[in-house]
Amino acid sequence: MKIGLDFDNTIVRYDDVFYRVALEQGLIPANTPISKVSVRDYLRSVGKEAYWTEMQGYVYGSRMDDVQPFSNVIETLSAARDAGWELFIVSHKTRHPFMGPKYDLHEAARNWILTHLVVDGEPLIGSDSINFREQKDSKVERVNELGCDVFLDDLPEILNATNFSDSIRGVLFDPDDHHTDFTSAKRVRSWFEFKEFLEI
Ligand SMILES: [Mg+2]
Repeated sequence: MKIGLDFDNTIVRYDDVFYRVALEQGLIPANTPISKVSVRDYLRSVGKEAYWTEMQGYVYGSRMDDVQPFSNVIETLSAARDAGWELFIVSHKTRHPFMGPKYDLHEAARNWILTHLVVDGEPLIGSDSINFREQKDSKVERVNELGCDVFLDDLPEILNATNFSDSIRGVLFDPDDHHTDFTSAKRVRSWFEFKEFLEI
């Protein structure tokens, strides 16, 4: 049995780091809510969208050491592995940022996975099980190819993609209740709920 996992905003939570970086760069008032979306919305509202675009490259390329997993990620992955599940990460992101220095974003994410999703010094998900694709379509193709039984993602459009195989149980990760009207597959609000879904 195989579990596929999206990476950005499913395993890793970026809210604190975007708030911190925007504050460091003097781009937001300190009373901006501590969330990635609030930072983006503020910068858009003051006509600084280009700073937002460049900040994403900087965070994903150079500040991954400041990024934390959501609560219960490691406990859940560890329990799943102990229960016999094979674990894969399948994510789409561009290899280089749209603007600014040419960080290798796949490499930065891969290093984070191998150094942060660790139990007793051993990575929970090995290098061979980490898959990055540049396009959403090829990400879904990879999920199908691996034969995942379950796939967890924060984007409804991935789980609803026309090429997403019917034999996969899609699970939407929706910690901030952005998609309360999502009914085409299971929706969980936390990794604790995902663990319950897996019955482990
Ligand atoms: Mg995501």
